[in-house]
Order: sequence, then C-alpha cells, then structure tokens
Amino acid sequence: MTDSSSLIRKQLCRRSLLKSVPLIAGAIISTNAVAQSVLAQTKLTHEAAKYQDQPKDGLQCSNCVQFVAPASCTVVEDPIAATGWCQLFVAKPA
Ligand code: SF4
Repeated sequence: MTDSSSLIRKQLCRRSLLKSVPLIAGAIISTNAVAQSVLAQTKLTHEAAKYQDQPKDGLQCSNCVQFVAPASCTVVEDPIAATGWCQLFVAKPA
C-alpha cells in the first residue's frame, strides 16, 4: 500500500468519526431525556402513599423534606397540598 492511499484512508476514518459525533451526542441526549421521563413517572400514587389532604398528628407536607412548594412532592404524584400528609413523611431537619 502506498503512503498516499494510507493517508486517504486515515482522513476518511477521521471524517467518518467526526460525522458520527453529532449522532452520538444526540443519542446521549435522548437517552437522558428518556431516563428523566421514566423517573418522572415513578412517583407513587396518592393511594399507594396513603396520602390525605389533611395533616396527621400535627405532621404535614410543608414540613416534609420531600415537599416542593407550592404543590408538589419528589416521591408522590401531584397535586400535593402543603397541609397534606402521607406515610412517607420525613421531617425537615430543625
Ligand atoms: S408527606 Fe408524603 S406527600 Fe407530603 S411531601 Fe412528604 S412524602 Fe410528599
């Protein structure tokens, strides 16, 4: 094989690699989006968490580490009332 044909092959490989970078980046981004979507769908239902709209024994969502104001929770599906409660309650640190 001549030096010029070897050089052409290397340039073709480099070009092929550079052309595939956007495809790889797109695949990574879409995989991340799918993972986030799956995570977003893994919240518990109100029923599974035994959620109620009222406080229980003085405990309520606004004092739970999982609560996201104004009406969301990181582990139980929306909507969540600040005055609600569920069996996954974990008190915010004092
Ligand atoms: S008590 Fe339950 S529903 Fe309320 S914020 Fe905490 S984990 Fe979420």
